[in-house]
Amino acid sequence: MARLYESRKRILVTGGAGFLGSHLIDKLMGQGHEVICADNLFTGSKRNIEHLHGNPRFEFLRHDVCNPLKVEVDEIYNLACPASPVHYQYNPVLTTKTSVMGALNMLGLAKRLRCRIFQASTSEVYGDPEVHPQREDYWGHVNPIGTRACYDEGKRCAETLFFDYHRQHGVDIKVARIFNTYGPRMHPRDGRVVSNFITQALAGEDLTIYGDGSQTRSFCYCDDLVDGFLKLMDSPPELTGPVNLGNPGEFTMIELAGEVLRLTGSRSKVKHLPLPADDPKQRQPDITLARKALGWEPKVPLADGLARTIDHFRSFDD
Ligand code: NAD
Ligand code: UDP
Ligand code: UDP
Repeated sequence: MARLYESRKRILVTGGAGFLGSHLIDKLMGQGHEVICADNLFTGSKRNIEHLHGNPRFEFLRHDVCNPLKVEVDEIYNLACPASPVHYQYNPVLTTKTSVMGALNMLGLAKRLRCRIFQASTSEVYGDPEVHPQREDYWGHVNPIGTRACYDEGKRCAETLFFDYHRQHGVDIKVARIFNTYGPRMHPRDGRVVSNFITQALAGEDLTIYGDGSQTRSFCYCDDLVDGFLKLMDSPPELTGPVNLGNPGEFTMIELAGEVLRLTGSRSKVKHLPLPADDPKQRQPDITLARKALGWEPKVPLADGLARTIDHFRSFDD
């Protein structure tokens, strides 16, 4: 759908070739906007955006957000950062650099352009939480020198930069704390639990449960999450966030494995592997703020979202 020229925006999405970024771009393009996708393809893939090539409203820039970027846009979504523990721990120094320098450069850009900027923050800022479910006013319980710290502390520092640019320079910010999200276009070898379990179930391999599998996560389907991004971005300037976005349905990893086996009809077994360091024991968003301030809540139940994701993985041939 082409939008009237006057209401069409030019929007920068960093990390746009990744899982969430590519779904966000699809939604923005569907609304008739122009999109610039800046991505260094570290964990993202051209495959996620290949259907947009040739569209005059879409532009891809191979760019590392650790470097300054000069473009002219009306809005910025900053998503560039590896999200899977396997990927962000592969080069931890680069992960912190991406979070911190990426945020700094994109905030410098937003300051120059006087435009609104969205930050994809994370439930990881709560660390291994002592408060359950997690509300935005909880300050978190993060090990600053552990193997997850490159991501957790990088994202916490990015939040600090966002709020200091807001206070010091009046930058119009929107900070979302995203809880575990899954769906089509997650990379099958991404290492996150949903993609691992589905890939293993479809291949007839044992499902790898880390630890005893009693740890919990709350899984949000990607379309629900992207709707939350758009609602937050369109909210009044006073609502800076942070706002939790996620699905409050909470499951143990054993329950998740059982659901994946049921939906794939796989005869795989489960096997237990050691629990990674600092793995949070439980995680569930309190989304009262998002419900009240944005009128947002997730709609897709886990079984439906998993079924759609399984369909995608069945057709993936890389
Ligand atoms: P993803 O790994 O699929 O996407 C990240 C994208 O960022 C990739 O395309 C990658 O190539 C790009 N990228 C990484 N480093 C970059 C750099 N230095 N310069 C430019 N591009 C770079 O992960 P995702 O799940 O789509 O996550 C997107 C964002 O959402 C991330 O910021 C992540 O921290 C955040 N998030 C995701 C989840 C989730 O469950 N999916 C949860 C919390 C937060
Ligand atoms: N920056 C950028 N694009 C711009 C404007 C700034 O990438 O259009 C970068 C800039 O190179 C700097 C960062 O954003 O590294 C912060 O910019 P700011 O102007 O806030 O700080 P300063 O340049 O004064 O250090
Ligand atoms: N996990 C698992 N098996 C796997 C991958 C992950 O049991 O093959 C567990 C992991 O230990 C964690 C949870 O699943 O407790 C979610 O892990 P993921 O890497 O998806 O995201 P996290 O929430 O830890 O960032």
